[in-house]
Order: sequence, then C-alpha cells, then structure tokens
Amino acid sequence: MKIVDYELFEVPPRWLFLKLETADGLIGWGEPIVEGRARTVRTAVDEIMSSYLLGKNAHHIEDHWQAMYRGSFYRGGPVLMSAIAGIDQALWDLKGRSFGAPVSELLGGKTRERIRVYQWIGGDRVDEIGTEAKQLCDVGYTALKMDAANQMRHLEPPAAVSEIIARVEHVREVVGPEVDIVVDFRGRISKSLAKRVASELEAFDVMFIEEPVLPENLEHLPALASRTTVPLATGERLYSRWDFKPLFERGGIDVVQPDVSHAGGISEMLRIANMAEAHDVAVAPNCPLGPIALAASLQVSAVVPNLLVQDHGFDIYPAPKSAADNYLADSSVFDFENGYLSPLEGPGLGIEIEQDAVRERAQQNLNWHNQVWRHEDGSVAEW
Ligand SMILES: [Mg+2]
Repeated sequence: MKIVDYELFEVPPRWLFLKLETADGLIGWGEPIVEGRARTVRTAVDEIMSSYLLGKNAHHIEDHWQAMYRGSFYRGGPVLMSAIAGIDQALWDLKGRSFGAPVSELLGGKTRERIRVYQWIGGDRVDEIGTEAKQLCDVGYTALKMDAANQMRHLEPPAAVSEIIARVEHVREVVGPEVDIVVDFRGRISKSLAKRVASELEAFDVMFIEEPVLPENLEHLPALASRTTVPLATGERLYSRWDFKPLFERGGIDVVQPDVSHAGGISEMLRIANMAEAHDVAVAPNCPLGPIALAASLQVSAVVPNLLVQDHGFDIYPAPKSAADNYLADSSVFDFENGYLSPLEGPGLGIEIEQDAVRERAQQNLNWHNQVWRHEDGSVAEW
C-alpha cells in the first residue's frame, strides 16, 4: 500500500483537509489544522510528505509516527503535532479501508454502543445563552458547553465575577438538574480569579470547568483543585503524551481534552486516553473542527473506556446542516439521538468525502485568523 500522492485543501470555514493516495488507488483523509494557522500547518505537511512519507507503505502507521516525531530533532508544539495528527488520521483511514473495517475495530473494538456528545452554546447576553440552551435540550442534548467570560483583567471587581456566575446560574435554571453544563474559561482568567470563580460555581454543580488557567500555567491546577469541588479540565492546547505527562504526575486534573487534530492524531489520542485511565482521569475529546476530525475523534471515543463526553464543532441535528454537510457524500452517518452519536461503522474513518466539492471550495482565498482582543487600556487580552 505505497503512498504515491497527496493533496491539501484549505476550505471554509477554517479547515484544512489532507488527501493521501496509494498506488492501488485507495484514498485516505485527514484534517491537519491549527485554527488560524492553516498555511503554516500546510507547509509542515508538505515538508513531511516530500522529505519522508511519499513512497512509504501506508500500513506502517506506528513506525511513521515515530519517524515524523522522533526522527526530527526539533519536535512537538501545535504546528508540527497537528501536521502529524492529520497525516496519522489519513493513514488510519487508509488502513481501515484496506481491511474493510472501521478504525475502532482495528484499535481493539468498541467499548460502547453510543457516544455522548455536548454542544456549545453561543450568544453573548444572558438571555441569548438561555434561549440556546433550551433549544439544545429540546432536540436531545444532555450536556452543553458555555463560555464563562469574555476578556478579563488579572483581577476584576465583584461585578465581573457576578456576571460569570449569573450566566451559569441562568443556564442551570433553564436546563434543570438533569443536564450537564461545561464552563469553558479558555484561559481567559488568571489563577487569582479562577480561585474566586471556581468556588462560587460549586453551587451550580457544573460538570467541569475547562482551561481555568492558561496551558502555560498548569502548575497552578493542584492548588486550585484543592480549594474547590468543581472538576477541572484542560488539554486542547497540549500536543503529545509528553505534554500531558506532568499534568497526570502533579494531579489536580479530572478530565483531559486532547484534540485529535492537534495532539498527534488517532494514535496519540488513544495513548493519552490510556495514560488518563491509569490516573483515574476521564477523557472529553475536544473537536471544534470539521467532519474528518470528528470522524477520527469518534473512532477513538468508541474505544476508550474512560470517555466522558465528545465535543463537536458543527451542527449534527438532525443531520449536518452547516459547512460539514458540503463535504460529505452522506452526512446522516453522524446519527444523533437523545444526546448521543452512533459510532461510525463504515470502513476507515467511516465517512465519504465529496472530492469535487472539496476541490471547488478550496478555490476561495480564506486565510482565517482570530481577532486580537484588547483591554480598555489598549493592552492585549486573551482571545
Ligand atoms: Mg476550550
């Protein structure tokens, strides 16, 4: 199964798709992307393909993973690990297709019949958030994620903390006690504010708080954990088992959130999940990306015993209606019911990509970047 060709497609809204092709005509897809750095990752994939992977046997996934990671003196970080991630996904897709089996089967087989998912609540104002939360519960979601706050200074007066609490309180009132609420801080608050906010959120029994401190400041998690009963989560900005290692060693973490398109792909996400299991930590895979990333993530989520809940980044109810739908031959494979997705049972990643649609939409000159946020005094804030 010799790899003879590849193509990269930067497509709306902000995704990058990789197509690998073998000499016997098999095609495998991956999603190597860092949001806002599509072109940088694209270059990284080009370098790996031309300097190493073209001409190799696609079946030797672990050896290729080691060569792509360990074979390079400089390694790790979002760009290189996301490039490896997308390639790894495409290799698993190829392997699954060559055996006529879903990737989950090759990883040891499913440990569950359904995969619980959560959806993100948009909206800035408290009433908008409540309305969206209600709508999502009405279509069957039993877990929701909300942003806690916009830009925050290192310390804030009581009104700013009260606003965070009011948002969460309102959502809890709307959804009732049967629904799980995830509160994402996106590293926007300092450790000093995190202490205040976490203890106040205990009253609303949230499922976990996400990135209560920046990934650069994870040494503060154990102290934070010792002050609150709210479970703590992080991991979407960690890129390998070695990035996760100190998190497990120090303790203070309840849930890890590796992203299958950032943390070295299917191979590495499974290893991180296994490490988490040994530390009594659950896995809630992050996935605010496209259909290939979600399919890859679901293949792992079907297998790992310590799965908590799976993220997804586009509408899946009643079937993908957003941009994802544009790229899939049959979007009904994302089969959502009562807060769960069915495992994908088709060969490889379990989705069929419409190549012509991908090629056509890749003609746009996208170059998506996030905004740079600034505080009132003009200094740069966390986005
Ligand atoms: Mg997040």
